[in-house]
Amino acid sequence: MNKNLIITGLPGAGKGTQAERIVETYNIPHISTGDMFRAAIKNQTALGLEAKAYMDQGNLVPDEVTNGIVKERLAEDDTKNGFLLDGFPRTMDQAQALEQIMVELDRKIDAVINIEVNTDVIKARLSGRVICRNCGATYHKLNHPPKVDGVCDRCGSTDLYQREDDKPETVENRIRVNQEQSQPIIKFYGDKGILHTVDGEIGIENVFTEIQNIIG
Ligand code: ADP
Ligand code: ADP
Ligand code: ZN
Repeated sequence: MNKNLIITGLPGAGKGTQAERIVETYNIPHISTGDMFRAAIKNQTALGLEAKAYMDQGNLVPDEVTNGIVKERLAEDDTKNGFLLDGFPRTMDQAQALEQIMVELDRKIDAVINIEVNTDVIKARLSGRVICRNCGATYHKLNHPPKVDGVCDRCGSTDLYQREDDKPETVENRIRVNQEQSQPIIKFYGDKGILHTVDGEIGIENVFTEIQNIIG
């Protein structure tokens, strides 16, 4: 079974939504750089203060900062039986740093799950994205609303919010930045023979079925 995993795709492709299902099914930790940065901002740490200016503009946080937090996180014990990296690597520098981290930990990436969605769909998804502040579950106002309006299915919290960087002005920049950076990364993992591309426009449960087939 492939359990050292990366999930990749443009903003709004459905990485977080699928990650929720993957980590619950396979019992591996969800390592989301975006979530780590948002937690740091909330807790007003030095990392948070540094990351915030980049995130507010839809730009990438510098590689040395991002590589550092991932390296620390992957060294923790709970990653021993696998992990799911979500939103990392996003640059070739990060992909190279991850190679080095894997060598140091004597592990390797088993599979890269690349979710493909066209940019019009992405814009519609991000404009309707709603997240539970308590547990991080992701919803969509139209595509995937909570069962009870305004209440998280998973934890019962009523603290659902829309991300500041999901406003249309920021979304344009995020898509552009991520498109530029993602091509060489996709090629890098394709050449290694571990890239698995899935159609991300087929409904949440159907995408998850495809992913389960990849993980094995
Ligand atoms: P999404 O995939 O929905 O765009 P994320 O939560 O993964 O959002 O990322 C939100 C923001 O956090 C990004 O726009 C960027 O500023 C920062 N970020 C997340 N992951 C990385 C990364 N690997 N490298 C640099 N910046 C990152
Ligand atoms: P990412 O982590 O890649 O930025 P999310 O998982 O947050 O993406 O999904 C973005 C938005 O799209 C959310 O509102 C989510 O509910 C919705 N969404 C995710 N996957 C699908 C899908 N297969 N079909 C329709 N909507 C989806
Ligand atoms: Zn919740």
